[in-house]
Amino acid sequence: MEQTFIMIKPDGVQRGLVGEIISRFEKKGFYLKAMKLITVNKSFAEKHYEDLSSRPFFPALVNYIISGPVVAMVWEGKNVVSTGRKIIGATNPADSAPGTIRGDYAIVMGRNIIHGSDSVENARKEIALWFPEGISEFKSSLHPWIYE
Ligand code: UDP
Ligand code: MG
Repeated sequence: MEQTFIMIKPDGVQRGLVGEIISRFEKKGFYLKAMKLITVNKSFAEKHYEDLSSRPFFPALVNYIISGPVVAMVWEGKNVVSTGRKIIGATNPADSAPGTIRGDYAIVMGRNIIHGSDSVENARKEIALWFPEGISEFKSSLHPWIYE
């Protein structure tokens, strides 16, 4: 089954949106497979966002991510990478549809509350970066009520 890496950024944590965000993924039927509250350093944040290192907003993005604790999570389910991105909404909250997390709770790109992997391959890389200790086995007893 597919997995994705989801991170509630420091603004989402500070604004008390952790429960609300987790709830949206839970209620959809995705399984929470790993989670930790962690403050990362500059080199770690640069590694996570290395594909964006040449972009003008990169230094501000790194400073934003290291500005406080984040909630790092692994969620699992059918098509969870692309569906997770839909739940999150467009990168720029000005374009995120109401009903998405960014559409409901954010206004500007540099404070857009949440990260989600953009491909299965990047999800695999990000999960390995954020959870080098591995992910414990757990099978939800709800499975037959969510999948046919
Ligand atoms: N970002 C920004 N300005 C931009 C583009 C992106 O501040 O012009 C930030 C924003 O927080 C975004 C993150 O950089 O979530 C990573 O950018 P990406 O294009 O990967 O967007 P995402 O995958 O998060 O939607
Ligand atoms: Mg991205």
